[in-house]
Amino acid sequence: MGEYRASSAPRRISNEERERILKDPGFGDNFTDYMAHQRWTEAEGWSEGEILPYGPLSLQPAAAVFHYAQEIFEGLKAFRHADESVWTFRPEKNAARIQNSARRLALPEISTEDFLASLRGVVSADEPWVPTGGESSLYLRPFMFASESFLGVRAAHTVDYYVIASPAGNYFPRGVQPLVVWVSPLAARAGRGGTGFAKCGGNYASSLQGKYEAAKAGADEVMFLDSETHSNIDELSGMNIFVVYADGRIVTPTLTGSILPGVTRESILTLAADRGLSPSEESVNYEALTADIAAGRVTEMFACGTAAVINPIGELRDEKATWTIGNGRSGEVTMALREELTGIQYGRVEDRHGWLTRLV
Ligand SMILES: *Cc1c(COP(=O)(O)O)cnc(C)c1O
Repeated sequence: MGEYRASSAPRRISNEERERILKDPGFGDNFTDYMAHQRWTEAEGWSEGEILPYGPLSLQPAAAVFHYAQEIFEGLKAFRHADESVWTFRPEKNAARIQNSARRLALPEISTEDFLASLRGVVSADEPWVPTGGESSLYLRPFMFASESFLGVRAAHTVDYYVIASPAGNYFPRGVQPLVVWVSPLAARAGRGGTGFAKCGGNYASSLQGKYEAAKAGADEVMFLDSETHSNIDELSGMNIFVVYADGRIVTPTLTGSILPGVTRESILTLAADRGLSPSEESVNYEALTADIAAGRVTEMFACGTAAVINPIGELRDEKATWTIGNGRSGEVTMALREELTGIQYGRVEDRHGWLTRLV
């Protein structure tokens, strides 16, 4: 295996329409002409990979995913470089993570070879959809779910894996502006022994009430505290968090099992060390954090993930108070790390850690 069979179906979207979409792609609104697919069955294992026209799926109402949420996904981007070549960032990390997520959700593991072939297959077919210029990219969304029609409770015997692609501009409609983050008083997104470390839809389902609370409080995002003591910060609904201290320390919460191990998070730990900062993974107590913000010991905070890259956090809000971080504007360390990370991804800065893989 390792190669996806190309589609002979024509493009579903005209060149004019595609060009119109690529002028202002937004995030997650538009989808390309093709998608990658592989099916797994208990009896036969994985099928050959195939590229299909993008379009609706046909599933039985009894498909297990609708009832028991046996589903996982990934998110990565394809970047166009100045010489027109197309690259992705550390995809072997996403392959390892989807394998880890699959084990936790009792889904079959897809091999690293097939995972990479699925990305290559869809990006080759949809090459004209990879935007040029600015900070645009083609967002890739691999996902796998229980498609077996069966209401008994056990791991499904039929599973489908797809990769869809969506041209992307800025993740937040306002662009790179400091976020207002609501600190959820009650809801947690994941608990000990649960699925927090796995990239699964269920974690997002349990984060949505917090996102709704955040919107009601006039905030852009929600931050979750740990479910056991409700005293340490975990992460946002779909992004990891960093805290920058006045003394040069840059801290992200330790991976406790309820935090998603982000590829961006890990890359930032490396880039921060390269810059002579002192990055570390530690538990971050929320009360201590707000005291440090109030005393000026915390100068910057930012959120990070593939979709939003690195985005400054300007303000924390909870039921009792509001804390402005630094001067509430985009911090220097945050923006320097952002510039370097995107520089590597778009081929403007030397890829000294060997993080890029060519797709087309
Ligand atoms: C995907 C995700 C992240 C970010 O991970 P990256 O690999 O950096 O994109 C952070 N938190 C959650 C909950 C996620 O699902």
